[in-house]
Amino acid sequence: MAQKQFKTESKRILDLMINSIYTHKEIFLRELISNASDAIDKYYFTNQGHVNSDELEIRIDLDEENRKITISDTGIGMDETDLDENLGTIAQSGSLAFKEEMAKEDKKEEDIDIIGQFGVGFYSAFMVSKEITVISKKEGCPAYKWTSDGVSGYEISEGERENHGTTIILTLKEDSDEEDYSQYLKTYKIKDLVKKYSDYIRYPIHMNVETTKVKEGSEDKDNPEYETVIEEQTLNSMVPLWKRAKSQITQEEYNQFYKDHFYDYSDPFRTIHFNVEGNVSFNALLYIPSRVPQGFYNADYKRGLQLYCRGVFIMDHAEDLLPDYLRFVKGLVDSQDLSLNISRELLQHDHQLKIIASRIEKKVLSELTNLLTKEREEYEKFWNNFGINLKFGCYNNYGRDKDKLQDLLLFNSSKENKLVTLNEYVQRMKEDQKDIYYVSGSDVNLIDKLPVVQTLKSKGFEVLYLTDNVDEFVMQSLMTYREKGFKNAAQGDLDIDSQEEKDELNKTKEENKELLDFMKDSLEEVSEVRLSSKLIDDPVCLTAGEGISFEMERVFNNMPD
Ligand code: ADP
Ligand code: MG
Repeated sequence: MAQKQFKTESKRILDLMINSIYTHKEIFLRELISNASDAIDKYYFTNQGHVNSDELEIRIDLDEENRKITISDTGIGMDETDLDENLGTIAQSGSLAFKEEMAKEDKKEEDIDIIGQFGVGFYSAFMVSKEITVISKKEGCPAYKWTSDGVSGYEISEGERENHGTTIILTLKEDSDEEDYSQYLKTYKIKDLVKKYSDYIRYPIHMNVETTKVKEGSEDKDNPEYETVIEEQTLNSMVPLWKRAKSQITQEEYNQFYKDHFYDYSDPFRTIHFNVEGNVSFNALLYIPSRVPQGFYNADYKRGLQLYCRGVFIMDHAEDLLPDYLRFVKGLVDSQDLSLNISRELLQHDHQLKIIASRIEKKVLSELTNLLTKEREEYEKFWNNFGINLKFGCYNNYGRDKDKLQDLLLFNSSKENKLVTLNEYVQRMKEDQKDIYYVSGSDVNLIDKLPVVQTLKSKGFEVLYLTDNVDEFVMQSLMTYREKGFKNAAQGDLDIDSQEEKDELNKTKEENKELLDFMKDSLEEVSEVRLSSKLIDDPVCLTAGEGISFEMERVFNNMPD
């Protein structure tokens, strides 16, 4: 039997694969299971659904002694030509250059999802195998056997298999100091991997599992006899929670799912589950945590959603699914319109993904708006945890998102010392008030005591108390809200006096000009000394001129260089 060579480019990719620069070797199982599931899909469709669904299954068998893992399916199978063409070539050879580039730089970063990137799914099995045998049969054809060590080439000969489908037998590499391949021969490891990557594959993944049970007819109930039996188990749950009807899911189930998948021991604050059908169809299950996640403000905090494609887990932390200002949202997205081979690098440019991301953004914002209008107290809880992110969102990206976010902002205010929205402020503004007044400071109580605040309050004006470092940047980025400007009341002049009051002040100013000039010259550090109507109880105050305020100066001074 003649040995066939892999196509040159395939061969080079294989070399790279075998001497893998890729760290997540375990994904080979995901790849083989997803191929098996695709093959069953094809079988199902070519027979137009006239199949006995009991027959449709994926099986995994472990043979520890001989270091073999067998994955078989009852799918469409491959004939001689299919085996030659599908397993002899690596389809997307155009990507070879990139792969070599990566290999050169010896990048081992998990972020480089090389396997996923180039559709070399089947070949990933060579990362863990020293030999692979594929036995496959198409309905109405003889069975064939394909064997390869992944290095020298492959052989195809006649094989033995009764029914349609494919059996893939991996002989694992020997363990080394760096790599423990034997772990893949352990039942619990395979169970874990199936749960992690393939739980929602539509067809059952069966495996014979050894379990210890109370022997049937065991006489003595208090001291029963045990026996070891082998029973067939289904490793995957098949129907993902997010694909089930909302009405059939309890909050308890949502909460449990959240805690199992998103590293939190508290129940989520809000669950957002929705489906979109249309140009791009997807299911999304999103959660807002009830507390700030650990390490949330660290530079290496990983944001983003889990991405599934047709029920197959593709990646964690897909950042492009969420705008940065929603980085606190956790959850997952499952779409049938994305390619299983999509990678982080490609995601950024994926048109479908952009549509999904924009729908998610809209949905989360509308949920937050709802919460704000209908459950104010709850919204304030949310705000205390994550509001700062929405503030950042207002001025990041050159303020591109500020229009979407401005109505969700809350600020402390002189009115009853409560959090208020800009809308609430504007609604009750005095008729002739042109600007929204704010004053910055480190603490609400200190701001409240400022002379200018006392004056404004006594004249019936409301003042926003800005206590976050970012607040003034937010105001500068917004520039206006409902055509009202923002005015730092502690800075420059406020046009709040009546004409009479103004005349009076001017008169006093004229009369005391000499004194004021003398004070200015003596103080040196100030640019002007003037009379002010901003003071009520206090004799004097320092004010910043127009431009950068004292508070912003403080923020700048505290910034690392
Ligand atoms: P992809 O799944 O992206 O096409 P793979 O490298 O995973 O790439 O598989 C290559 C091809 O080999 C598949 O497209 C399919 O035609 C064939 N194949 C792989 N596994 C099976 C299987 N279990 N049954 C039938 N065909 C398979
Ligand atoms: Mg595949």
